[in-house]
Amino acid sequence: MTEFNWTRDQFHLPEGVVYLDGNSLGPLPKATPARVAQVMRPEWEELLIGGWTAAGWHMMPETLGDRIAALIGAEPGHVVVGDTLSIKIYQALAAALALRPERRVILSDTGNFPSDLYMAEGLARTLGNGTRLVTVAPEEVAGALTEEVAVLMLTEVDYRTGRRHDMTALTDAAHEVGALTLWDLAHSFGALPVDLAAAGADFAAGCTYKYINAGPGAPAFVYVAPAHANAAGTALQGWQGHAAPFDFDLAYRPANQIARMRVGTPPVLQLAALEAALDIWEKVDIADVRTRSIALSERFIAGVEATCPQLRLASPRDPDRRGSQVSFHFEDGYAAMQALIARGVIGDFRAPDIMRFGFTPLYVGEAEVDRAIATLAEIMAGRLWDRPEFKVKAMIT
Ligand SMILES: *Cc1c(COP(=O)(O)O)cnc(C)c1O
Repeated sequence: MTEFNWTRDQFHLPEGVVYLDGNSLGPLPKATPARVAQVMRPEWEELLIGGWTAAGWHMMPETLGDRIAALIGAEPGHVVVGDTLSIKIYQALAAALALRPERRVILSDTGNFPSDLYMAEGLARTLGNGTRLVTVAPEEVAGALTEEVAVLMLTEVDYRTGRRHDMTALTDAAHEVGALTLWDLAHSFGALPVDLAAAGADFAAGCTYKYINAGPGAPAFVYVAPAHANAAGTALQGWQGHAAPFDFDLAYRPANQIARMRVGTPPVLQLAALEAALDIWEKVDIADVRTRSIALSERFIAGVEATCPQLRLASPRDPDRRGSQVSFHFEDGYAAMQALIARGVIGDFRAPDIMRFGFTPLYVGEAEVDRAIATLAEIMAGRLWDRPEFKVKAMIT
């Protein structure tokens, strides 16, 4: 049983703030500053370059990869940490395409995060062999699976609406036509139970700064199923993914299995922040997180629908078909979100009209949900969003 009073106490949150944006950037764990400081002093200060071995820096992408593997139902030794999610998507997609050389279609959906689609388009153009990205509406994915499809590339939980794909069913359907799957876990990892091995996923990638709370710019991770681990080529043949990086061979030879997905020098300070964040997850049962996330989300939907008739639910009503966020359509959603933030309730806005709220049971409970509902109701009833200062678009929403 997860102790949510304990988990809440592991985070710093500013006084008076209701934080419903942990799906974009998780808050600071109390243990993180000291863990990061330790890398600087004494590790870096005293060990200098010796830190790569003496402090274990060099192996962190793999040791932390194993800790992540345990949280997403991946086999140990098949997850590695590094780079950003966009880059890991590119690498995994390139590897998957190379395993289906006779096919030319990457299938995705129009709800996918633009960066994933941009990366796919860029890769297709670089390949220059007729590979193309095809996107269909999320509910049409299964029907669009044909024997032309090399890779089905999907984000399990839609970043805008929270709509969740059925990973197992779609992976089965992809395999039925001989396609491989690449799952983006950006809004799944830390939000709901994920079991990559049970689902039969071929490739997966995710980030650690959202629900995992590893901090701004924290590195991503990539999973390659054991069946593909020694066949997968990586388009990004960096020296750290070489079989013997310190031989400085002129010829590239990929490292065994997942280590080949490493690219360059790992970001050790960020990895230390990830390590501190993962320590909290050691004491968390994701099934408890899911149960509580659904309870909080249902409470929020009921409260908002009872008090804010101007808002229309954008997320699926069935909690099984949602991730850990709830979104509402509202024409002046941007201004309304600014008004909410000005009153200490932090969510975010996604164009064109989505107000998005993330529910993260590690540090959000019923009291926060109730305050968010009451604040939103007050803003709606009094049209408090209708002020010029709330309509000035910031660069980051
Ligand atoms: C957050 C997110 C990203 C961000 O990618 P970065 O390279 O880490 O900036 C990519 N894809 C999805 C689906 C996301 O939700």
